Parts: sequence; C-alpha cells; structure tokens
Amino acid sequence: MSANGRRLVLATHNAHKVAELRSILAAADALGAWDVIGADELNAPQPTEDGITFAANALLKARACVAATGLPAVADDSGLCVAAMGGAPGVFSARWAGGHGDDSANLALLLDQLRDLRDEDRGAWFECAAALVAPDGREWVETGRMPGRLARQPRGRGGFGYDPILIPDGHCVTAAELTAEQKNAISHRGKAFRALAPAILGLG
Ligand code: IMP
Repeated sequence: MSANGRRLVLATHNAHKVAELRSILAAADALGAWDVIGADELNAPQPTEDGITFAANALLKARACVAATGLPAVADDSGLCVAAMGGAPGVFSARWAGGHGDDSANLALLLDQLRDLRDEDRGAWFECAAALVAPDGREWVETGRMPGRLARQPRGRGGFGYDPILIPDGHCVTAAELTAEQKNAISHRGKAFRALAPAILGLG
C-alpha cells in the first residue's frame, strides 16, 4: 500500500486484463499515488453483464465494485466487432460459443462462420469502453478502437481472446504476435484508458 493508502480497484476478474490495465495505466503515468488492486483480491462481485453497449457494461461493473468496496473503481468492457457481421460479436464476444470466456471455442466458431468471406471483406476492430466511478457518484467513460482485418488461421501466442486472428492496420502480424508493449501502444484498451488517465489523476 502507498504512504497515504489510496486504493483504486480494477473491476475485472480476467488476469490478462488486470496485467494489461496495470501496465497501460503505469505507462501513462495515470496512477499517481493510487495503489491498484484487482477485484479478486477484495472478493468483489461479478455482476451480470446485461448491457447492450460496451459503455453500459463497463459502468455496471465499476458501479458494482464501488458499491461492494466503497473504493473508486475502473472497469472496461470490450470485444471484437466484425464489419461484415454488423459489429457482432460485440458485447457477446466473451460468450459467442456459449460458455463465458471460452477463448478457443469462441475463436474457432467465429473463424468457421467467416470462412467464405473474401479477404477484402474481413475488416474488424477491437473496441473498448473504459469507465471510472467514484464513491461520491461521479462517473466517466472513454472509448478506444483498434482497427484491422481477420486472419484465416490463428497465429501467435501472446495476448488473449481473439488476438491470434486480428491483424492490426499497419501490421502484417496478428495482435498475438506483438509484444505486450506494442499491443498496448495501439490497442483499444490502451487508447480508452489513456483517455481516462486525467480523470483518475483528478480524483484527488
Ligand atoms: P469482457 O471481459 O466482458 O470485456 O469480454 C471481452 C471479450 O472480448 C474477451 O473475452 C475477448 O474474447 C474479447 N476481447 C476483448 N479485448 C480483447 C483483446 O485485446 N484481445 C483479444 N480479445 C479481446
């Protein structure tokens, strides 16, 4: 804990996201004197993600964390949006194949659904909404996107979720073939949380 013991909760139970968020916020000098703790460490609840937008889900996760802990909380909601599918899987990305968070089943199902799409129609983007909720009720939401196109086969061992099939614009490798630093510099989550940094620092 820092000298003044100010704690900020990352309202996610996804270990990959906790790691990404910690390093994005630290690299953006967004943390000041805040100590960052994961929701798991506080046994914070995992609310049902019943919002139909990324922003709604990010806010409901952060609000639930604040209600349970009395501490300020940041949360994200994110997903893969395929242009040819009208933005799906979108908020359903984590449960596209049924069970929540089965990354390899989600990815396999999506690749199968898209197998007949021509290369020029394989545009997609990752999208993220980042929310900050303070115990006094103030709320902020920022968003970010990482545009790219979908590979036909998974490639790379880094990252998580759909990273092995998203080739970011300006690259010829998938997001799973980038280093964590390279991905954070261009990612939807990096953009959204860097935009949120002034609000975190301004919490006082
Ligand atoms: P959430 O945890 O409810 O926000 O769900 C996010 C889901 O979207 C994850 O389970 C992944 O399938 C996908 N996703 C979000 N961000 C990324 C990313 O940076 N790389 C790969 N997949 C992602």
